[in-house]
Amino acid sequence: MKEKTNDTPENLLRQAIPPLLSWFSAHRADLPWRREPTPYHVWLSEIMLQQTRIRAALPYYERFLSELPTVADLAAVPEERLLKLWEGLGYYSRARNLKKTAILLCERCGGELPRSAKELASLPGVGAYTAGAIASIAYGEPEPAVDGNVLRVLSRLTLSEADVLSPATRTAMTNLLRKVYPSGREAGALTEALMELGETVCLPNGAPLCESCPLVSLCLARRAGRAEELPVRSQKKERRVEKRTVLLLSDGGGRLAVCRRPSRGLLGGMWEFPNFPGAATRENAEAFLEERGGAASHLSVFVKKTHIFTHIEWRMTALTGKIDVLPPSFVLADREELIRDYALPTAFRQFL
Ligand code: SF4
Repeated sequence: MKEKTNDTPENLLRQAIPPLLSWFSAHRADLPWRREPTPYHVWLSEIMLQQTRIRAALPYYERFLSELPTVADLAAVPEERLLKLWEGLGYYSRARNLKKTAILLCERCGGELPRSAKELASLPGVGAYTAGAIASIAYGEPEPAVDGNVLRVLSRLTLSEADVLSPATRTAMTNLLRKVYPSGREAGALTEALMELGETVCLPNGAPLCESCPLVSLCLARRAGRAEELPVRSQKKERRVEKRTVLLLSDGGGRLAVCRRPSRGLLGGMWEFPNFPGAATRENAEAFLEERGGAASHLSVFVKKTHIFTHIEWRMTALTGKIDVLPPSFVLADREELIRDYALPTAFRQFL
């Protein structure tokens, strides 16, 4: 094999593009947003995939587009319906930003997305990564989209020990890619090929599948036997653990009490079972209800569940009970109504 240890990262990337594009054209997954990669479709799929795996996002994408096929439909959808369509995907600010941006696009440019990565990045909820993805995939601009998958592939390919959690590393990798990025159809193909290689072959947390990788003869980390050590990630901030008590209060006729979260902050505007931070005692539950003008009886521990957000982990204990006086800010709904009409985040839906 030809010795390539003196290759610069830029040269390595140049050499990696042809085998990567051939591999992608032979192995690309058939995904609905790839069948018709309009700017709206790419935008929606990229926002959904920001925190969600492809398989999990697929039914949401199909449902969302069949109900909101255009940017104008998205701009006009009532917030309650929007949150219902997003229910279960989490990170609900993504849905709100989509709508906010859609309104802006309809007001300013007839519902069209801007054509350059720079203009795209100025839209609410669209960062450099999503802007690069839309610009390269939908418009063929030679602009990379660098996410965790791409950083992992590049770190291993070039044997980079730079901390991938540092913004400086992301900028450096983006600039490096810009030097070699093709334009036109190949720009979008390269963006998707890098993402897909990271998702399916150059895997995190465990052995990458180097024998199936189109870059195996170029990859410096593979050659040095260090693929599993890379990328370097500085210690992440610890997640805060919070105990919460959740109240599953029934009216005795199959309906449960729910209330609405404040419109801003974590899970803003979503519905929830009444809950509060702290220990699941009857006294705490009664005090919580009394403060809201309500009362319940027969309170007892039912089940414990955990829900993990990015920076916080809720360890929840649910108490069941009978609602005797419904606080004015609560409403009653049966199971079917909760599933059909209420945007109930996964943290609470698991109690159904
Ligand atoms: S050869 Fe292995 S480590 Fe290198 S890019 Fe391919 S899968 Fe990743």
